[in-house]
Amino acid sequence: MLVHTPAHSQMAGTLSYTSEHALPPGTLVRVPLGQRELLGVVWEQQPISDDTPPMDPSKLRPVAAVLDALAPLSVHWRTLIHFAASYYQRSAGEVALAALPPQLRDISSLQLARKLKKKAKSQLKAQAAPATDATPPQDIPELVALTPEQTRAIGQFDDNPGPFLLFGATGSGKTEVFMRCAADVLASSDSSQVLVMVPEINLTPQLEERFKARFCAQYGLEAVVSMHSGLTPAQRLASWLAAHSGNARIVLGTRMAVFASMPHLALIVVDEEHDPSYKSQDGARYSARDLAVYRGKLEGAKVLLGSATPSLESWYHSRPAAEGGRYMRLEMPSRVGANAILPLVRRVDMNHQPKGSVISPPLLDAIGQRITRGEQSMVFLNRRGYAPVLSCADCDWKSNCPHCSAFRVFHKIDRTLRCHHCGFTERVPRACPDCGSLDIAPVGRGTERLEEQLALLLSSMSRPDGSAVRIARIDADTTKLKGSLESQLAQVHSGEVDVLVGTQMIAKGHDFRRITLVAAINPDGALFSSDFRSPERLFGLLMQAAGRAGRDASNTSRSEMWVQTFHPTHPLYETLKQHDYPAFAASQLVERQQAGMPPFSFQALVRADARTQEAAQAFLNSASSACDGLAELAPWREHITLYPAVPMSIQRVANVERAQMLLESPSRAALQRFLNAWQPTLHAMRSQPQCKGLLRWAIDVDPLLI
Ligand code: ADP
Ligand code: ZN
Ligand code: ZN
Repeated sequence: MLVHTPAHSQMAGTLSYTSEHALPPGTLVRVPLGQRELLGVVWEQQPISDDTPPMDPSKLRPVAAVLDALAPLSVHWRTLIHFAASYYQRSAGEVALAALPPQLRDISSLQLARKLKKKAKSQLKAQAAPATDATPPQDIPELVALTPEQTRAIGQFDDNPGPFLLFGATGSGKTEVFMRCAADVLASSDSSQVLVMVPEINLTPQLEERFKARFCAQYGLEAVVSMHSGLTPAQRLASWLAAHSGNARIVLGTRMAVFASMPHLALIVVDEEHDPSYKSQDGARYSARDLAVYRGKLEGAKVLLGSATPSLESWYHSRPAAEGGRYMRLEMPSRVGANAILPLVRRVDMNHQPKGSVISPPLLDAIGQRITRGEQSMVFLNRRGYAPVLSCADCDWKSNCPHCSAFRVFHKIDRTLRCHHCGFTERVPRACPDCGSLDIAPVGRGTERLEEQLALLLSSMSRPDGSAVRIARIDADTTKLKGSLESQLAQVHSGEVDVLVGTQMIAKGHDFRRITLVAAINPDGALFSSDFRSPERLFGLLMQAAGRAGRDASNTSRSEMWVQTFHPTHPLYETLKQHDYPAFAASQLVERQQAGMPPFSFQALVRADARTQEAAQAFLNSASSACDGLAELAPWREHITLYPAVPMSIQRVANVERAQMLLESPSRAALQRFLNAWQPTLHAMRSQPQCKGLLRWAIDVDPLLI
């Protein structure tokens, strides 16, 4: 019998154990490994090839325990894990164990059996309750009348196999479509299950409320569960068991939920499918969006991706079928409600504003008008802290981090210099550490300084009732405490805030009803970044931010999105003004095609961390030169472009030197096979003398950040 355990080496595959009884594949077991006991999953019998020596059963250790209270994990689940491991170049054991709730590792079969029994009892009670209490039928919420665009999208969904890309403007009612499609799928059989993924934990409570309100009256209180890293271990286990047993009909979760065991999965929804949070940035660097599409195909479940600003990959896949498109595009261009038109985009040419102004006079004026009318404004800047760097006017000293190739950020609130990469924090020095000058000052600005400046600029203003203007800030610094984001958002929703300042955290997803003005203070940086995905991310962010404004159909004044820029005629801002994502996507795709970049090619990065930059690059370059001599790589070698190793954009973090090497291919399959065949060489390379000082390496397939 073969068992997968959480092996840490990428090479480790299955381990073998004996068992008294035959155990079906997918059974969860506990197995001894050295002195420890680990959770394992029984895998299929490996085909014995001629060069595998037969195993001697007397040398194998027995399985320690079988978690037979649980049904084995399905063949679909195991295939998904196997595919993810192979595609993202990790071991199946690592992917499988990361996908299971941590508490399964500690719980005994007996405890598990008790838990399940208790659960079954409470479920029985819950099911019995409606009859005895004669639950009134009005508990099932009344449904809104669909817009013609929603009706059409749902009709197309019902009549076609998918996968679908729901391309709907912000506020076009995509969530309503997700719920109707889920309802149709749930109604189609007694057991069918639906998985709904969102990019951020912060967005789950709002969504969970909406889904519970819609579905719990009909399917029971336990029919909707959530799955994300913010749950306690016990909650995570409970959700997982509910999904695995089929009791949960709807699972809402973040990217990890793509691995939820759902025996009757019939629909996967991926909301905000363009969001980079769907890509894991450590361990197996999987894309939950891409795995959702694979899983849907594997299990015969429908897949519904949704976004107002789709990823260029998904957009390209949803081109007309006649041109080779594989996804069906469902379009909802209009916002719900007659007055809820998209905001007017206004560009402020910063070349013609007073030098050094942060908030230009016309923008300040517009915010002031909102305050007088009792409306809310949202101002965002993608940099937290007070100022990104502190500098000495006399000797040019700057607040470098001693451990990273980056500046430490000045946080005024506790007068610290903090490194946002390694966390290194010190009190702000009174004088320049190099020359002793007292003339050290912050350069540039972050949200903390923006909040301060706004408070100053608006201090002479008052609200309609004569009281003082209320400014609030939401960013990673103000939301460290559990529950603090929720309470701050609640304040915005209830109208206790006039001007909200924050990072991109506030630009995503939230359904703020009273905001009529959104402003991007300084978005230009992303126009000229070396990362080819940077314009795509900027456009998406600005469209999403604009989408926060004017969501209240009862407000008749047109809402506005302000962009302060030194490049007002840049084509990206032109298409933003038209709210024209298709035009933006078309121009980007032309550029990508000419440059041979994704989605017209496929990429992988090999990253290396080492004590010295030389060692990190030596590892990558030796691995690269080894390729040409390897017979097993020969069939794919000519389809792969290997670029030289380069330092990462932030070269040193916490005293670790980082380098990376890009691989590119016009063929996904060729890249895949090449990487699989190349892995053993990468492992062997480690022990070469020139790689001394190498700490670790990893492969990132379909990387998002280059
Ligand atoms: P999106 O996800 O596309 O940004 P939402 O699904 O959040 O949009 O919908 C925006 C608002 O419109 C929500 O408050 C929602 O309840 C409401 N809404 C959606 N569909 C309808 C409809 N058919 N009639 C009335 N209101 C609707
Ligand atoms: Zn100095
Ligand atoms: Zn640092």
